[in-house]
Amino acid sequence: MSDRRSAIVIGGGLIGCSSAYYLCRAGWAVTLLERQRIGSGASHGNCGYVCPSHAMPLSGPGVVAHTLPSLFQRDAPLSIPLRFDPSLWKWLLQFTRQCTNDRMMHAAKGRNALLASSMTLYREIVQEESVDCEWTDRGLLLVYKSARDFSGYKATADLLKREFGIDAVPYGGEEVKTLEPALKSGMAGGWHFPGDAHVRPDKLLAGLKQAIQRHGGTIREDVEVLSLDREGGRIVSVKTSQGSFAADVTVLATGAEAPQFASAIGLRLPIQPGKGYSLTMPPLRNQPKIPMIFEEHHVAVTPLESGFRVGSTMEFCGYDRSINAERLALLRKSAAAHLEEPLPAVVDEEWAGWRPMSVDGLPCIGCAPGASNLIVAAGNGMIGLATAPATGKLVAEIASEQTPHIDATPYSLSRFA
Ligand SMILES: Cc1cc2nc3c(=O)[nH]c(=O)nc-3n(C[C@H](O)[C@H](O)[C@H](O)COP(=O)(O)OP(=O)(O)OC[C@H]3O[C@@H](n4cnc5c(N)ncnc54)[C@H](O)[C@@H]3O)c2cc1C
Repeated sequence: MSDRRSAIVIGGGLIGCSSAYYLCRAGWAVTLLERQRIGSGASHGNCGYVCPSHAMPLSGPGVVAHTLPSLFQRDAPLSIPLRFDPSLWKWLLQFTRQCTNDRMMHAAKGRNALLASSMTLYREIVQEESVDCEWTDRGLLLVYKSARDFSGYKATADLLKREFGIDAVPYGGEEVKTLEPALKSGMAGGWHFPGDAHVRPDKLLAGLKQAIQRHGGTIREDVEVLSLDREGGRIVSVKTSQGSFAADVTVLATGAEAPQFASAIGLRLPIQPGKGYSLTMPPLRNQPKIPMIFEEHHVAVTPLESGFRVGSTMEFCGYDRSINAERLALLRKSAAAHLEEPLPAVVDEEWAGWRPMSVDGLPCIGCAPGASNLIVAAGNGMIGLATAPATGKLVAEIASEQTPHIDATPYSLSRFA
């Protein structure tokens, strides 16, 4: 009989895979349970940005007043279709309370710590595990059509530099076209973050899966977790579609669906699914070199070695998996307004996924108050790929009762108690 401590990780997205990877590296006997295949959730078709530039959360002073008029428009980048959903309305109310300068900066510091650590850890993983994920260091370019918005971004760029040492370089209208010739002429300008990188998410997941297996972890796909049984303040068994499992520690990494189990064990987890979309196609003939966000539309493009991806938009429409053609059309419209080359009429993949949106823009990483051997790792929102390694490493450190490599307090679940 092995005396290694055992862990069950529920969820095979980037957060579950990173947690399983670091648990394996820390010597745990790990079994990862995934309802479908590894990377079936938000981690599959996202934009692949490894983006320390994204330290600022969605919430901030003036965000509600600025966003409210467009919220209920069907074609706005951020949309909330009108329907009866008390948990969503409660989440929105709590979100508005986050929109103060102090709370924004608290979230930004917590996000920055995870983002900065993850950038270092990714470089280690990609090299040590020979992960072929099309890693590219060309930064990220925020593109503006409006001169006012372009110059208005300076305040955020200055704040990122002052608080976190993150560099952003401004390029005027002509200069931005020289920097990225795939853009149409006539842009007001762009801010380039040279420290960002990007990857192909499905290849990253495939590499992590292999690394977990190489380090002795077991991956069980097509296993749906149905319930968590708690006795004496501990999880004693995990009931699944393929029988029961038990381990010393259980990690809940089911992304936007984490609240489903949280409520069963008396845990509050204010996470909502923020549905986003992407279109993936073969490389364009005039393929951009740099990933870009078209800021006025909040649409992101990712030039991959093996393709081209256009993604984004945020719909708070509950746990609805349908693909809304109108929202895909918004992606096309934005690409047409910014890129010289039109997108092809037929693409390889039309995709939608649920971002796990925590109410305060900080992930939820830590022991569940009502179950001492349950670690939650969810709610990484719009930066789940960019924060996955540090999240997984924290999970392994918490499980192993080691001093965490970054201060874990901002992510603690006790903030919702
Ligand atoms: C359009 C779009 C673009 C994005 N771009 C970026 C980006 O450029 N950079 C970035 O950092 N982030 C980006 N994100 C966010 C990022 O994709 C998410 O934050 C991240 O994928 C969340 O990972 P996760 O592992 O928590 O969740 P998921 O990837 O959703 O994984 C959860 C897994 O749990 C499984 N599961 C659920 N319930 C059960 C159950 N009962 N039993 C067993 N398994 C279960 C699911 O099948 C799923 O595989 C983007 C998101 C979207 C939608």
